[in-house]
Amino acid sequence: MKIIPLSEGAFTIDQTKVFVPFDDEKDVLNERPTGSLLVEIQPFIVITSKDILLIDTGLGFHDRQGSKMQLHANIEKAGINIKDVTKVLMSHLHKDHAGGISMENNRSELSLPNATYYIQNRELDFALEKGFPSFIPEEIAALKDSSQVHLLDGDDGDIDGYITYHHTGAHSPHHQVFWIREENEILFFGGDDAPQLQQMKVKYKTKYDFNPDLAMQLRQKWWKQGNDEGWTFMFYHDIKMPVFKKN
Ligand SMILES: [Zn+2]
Repeated sequence: MKIIPLSEGAFTIDQTKVFVPFDDEKDVLNERPTGSLLVEIQPFIVITSKDILLIDTGLGFHDRQGSKMQLHANIEKAGINIKDVTKVLMSHLHKDHAGGISMENNRSELSLPNATYYIQNRELDFALEKGFPSFIPEEIAALKDSSQVHLLDGDDGDIDGYITYHHTGAHSPHHQVFWIREENEILFFGGDDAPQLQQMKVKYKTKYDFNPDLAMQLRQKWWKQGNDEGWTFMFYHDIKMPVFKKN
């Protein structure tokens, strides 16, 4: 399988939950509010023998140079027509993962015209009810009655026999993670339960997870099992190491 990270750049985020662009060359982290986290925003394209998958959808911002959504510009830069994306897998609907679900200039229209969007049923209800500041209902409301949406029920299941999902409820109450298996390869996307390589390597408990203990336990479990079984990890918020596989 081929993995293509779609970097939207680096951002800082603090208690206000606003994502502020961060330019390595001229910005200084210490000048941002105390407690600011520096994160990459990075959806992934995965090309399998059956599908072109998009995993999470980014902030849904406008491309800084061009006239389209950054998500679309990045997919095209990877040599892929947005019409050819067949499935969108969503870990959860926080705004930094779900902003690209719909068109930036018309939020009633989904951004990948021919894709089926796989969303955890409980997450959609929760996000629409909960709203700001973590969710932006306007950007995801189009999922509600769309024929392009396939709602996932239950805690475990599969999609087309080769993608499996697991509802963790760790980072957020209805967060889910995915494994994609083809031939001898296993790709793992842990979303915000497993956002950065460093958090896998050390025992790390966050303040911002819904269930910090569970999130930490899962990271440790996946890190051990994944390295034993040769998983390829995809890290949505990692600046330096979007894709990792132990040699
Ligand atoms: Zn999140």
